[in-house]
Amino acid sequence: MSEPTIFKRILDGEIPADVVYEDDQCLAFHDVAPQAPVHILVIPKKEIVSIEHLSEEDEQLVGHIFLVIQKIARDQGLANDGYRVICNCGKGGGQTVFHLHYHLMGGRDLPWPPG
Ligand code: AMP
Repeated sequence: MSEPTIFKRILDGEIPADVVYEDDQCLAFHDVAPQAPVHILVIPKKEIVSIEHLSEEDEQLVGHIFLVIQKIARDQGLANDGYRVICNCGKGGGQTVFHLHYHLMGGRDLPWPPG
């Protein structure tokens, strides 16, 4: 069996995280190496590797996660100035932790393209 990802270990309470939101479907916590004043990761509790591994049964879950992202962004005071949501998919897409996650970033100007 493959090793649990670092995010699975956070979900299992083996590794601490600075949690900002939790419900029955997802968990959100501060990124350990923030790239912006606000940099929060939102992950499903269900073990899904990446966007590529989503199926139709995950449709409600993904919609729910986006509403949670919206709520956190508002709570963090990002709604007025705007924010960015990133989901890296696969090694070539910059994904390093293979448990689906969304980066919520804000609190500074975010140039486009991101590079
Ligand atoms: P990605 O490159 O899209 O897979 O993003 C993985 C993110 O997880 C990176 O921004 C890391 O800084 C972050 N990260 C890795 N380990 C932890 C951890 N233990 N707690 C919080 N964030 C983490």
